[in-house]
Amino acid sequence: MSLRDFGHHSRDYILTINGGSSSLKCSLFQVGPPLTRVLSCLVDRIGFPEGTLTLTDVADGTSERRTIQAAHHKDCVDPVIVWLEQKVTHMGLVAIGHRVVHGGHRYSRPQRITSDIMDELHRLSHYDPEHLPAEIELIEACGRRYPMLPQVACFDTAFHRDMPLVARLLPIPRRYEAAGVQRYGFHGLSYAYLMEELRRIAPHEAQGRVILAHLGNGASMAAVRGGKDIDTSMGFTPTAGLPMSTRSGDLDPGLLSYLSRTEGMTVEQFHTMVNQQSGLLGLSETSSDLRDLLASESHDPRAAEAVALFCYQAKKWIGSFTAALGGLDTLVFSGGIGENSAVVRARICEGLEFLGLALDEARNTKSAAVISKEGSGVTVRVIPTDEESEIARSVHHLLHQSRSNDV
Ligand code: ADP
Repeated sequence: MSLRDFGHHSRDYILTINGGSSSLKCSLFQVGPPLTRVLSCLVDRIGFPEGTLTLTDVADGTSERRTIQAAHHKDCVDPVIVWLEQKVTHMGLVAIGHRVVHGGHRYSRPQRITSDIMDELHRLSHYDPEHLPAEIELIEACGRRYPMLPQVACFDTAFHRDMPLVARLLPIPRRYEAAGVQRYGFHGLSYAYLMEELRRIAPHEAQGRVILAHLGNGASMAAVRGGKDIDTSMGFTPTAGLPMSTRSGDLDPGLLSYLSRTEGMTVEQFHTMVNQQSGLLGLSETSSDLRDLLASESHDPRAAEAVALFCYQAKKWIGSFTAALGGLDTLVFSGGIGENSAVVRARICEGLEFLGLALDEARNTKSAAVISKEGSGVTVRVIPTDEESEIARSVHHLLHQSRSNDV
């Protein structure tokens, strides 16, 4: 199938770039109103001998695929942009927006990238050596291709920057707080998008007591009251909180010294274990993918236990955040698991009737927009998240603001 040639002449576009561990998602948005996604692009198997680059026309759903050799994320920039330029006549890019996982304690908003911001990102690299260096290289590669084009960094930590101190502090010696060692929280672009959607669909609920559950390969929750984020399950790094596809989530801090004493485990080995070999994969010993585990749980007790532990911990976090919020009005499920798995949603919510939480089985099975029973105390919603749209909106907003300031 072939993509149609967009005949839009001299129109303005925003490109969004969202790098995963071995993948890259890009989307091209035509500047509105409304802001419209026209093309999306996925590069996978970065770092492998051969990856694929898939370009999808959002309007008619047709896709084209090419192979690509990309040792690093930055190697994808030129092939992706060349292809987009072939597809969109007179593609007038006005800005590029990047998802940046860590913004440290300084940034509670998206930032136009300057040399100062780049210095700060380099400084923050050791907070998240798995993501930030590749994100910095992506920004630099885009800067080489379009030296005059504004680029904007949209931080996953920004949504949580105004959490109360009690939720940000780690109970370790004080001097670490000043050195930046505190709870940051992640998945902020997803949470910002979900809150905007909630404000649009149910403005009254958005002002109430809300738990947002982003359950994908990475999984976390955020507690929001009166539109303000008050707590989140991830911490100084995205390894904390709920168990995930390969990350452990919260662990007893004594485990590192125990494994070091008894097995001679090094800090590096521990890091690899808790980030890449734990969670659903570690417990099941077969797969990090929830769909696989649901398919095998009837005959594989390890798969069943992995799914049970995931649901149990998610239930505990809902209980804990309900206490922090002083009650619960709305629970939002999102992410690959939250949006698609009725059975996991049902197991997480089972037994929470005492909070006023009761699912409607038929609605839940259909992954309807509202899956709670009519008249139940807590409205439970499924909202598909869209981090790229959040980036594009933020970039558009920032450009608009700076233009108004120029006048
Ligand atoms: P990422 O965090 O990498 O963006 P996703 O949000 O796409 O990941 O979530 C991936 C997870 O969602 C996987 O565990 C996958 O099994 C799960 N998932 C996707 N679709 C379904 C489904 N229909 N039923 C159960 N789990 C699903």
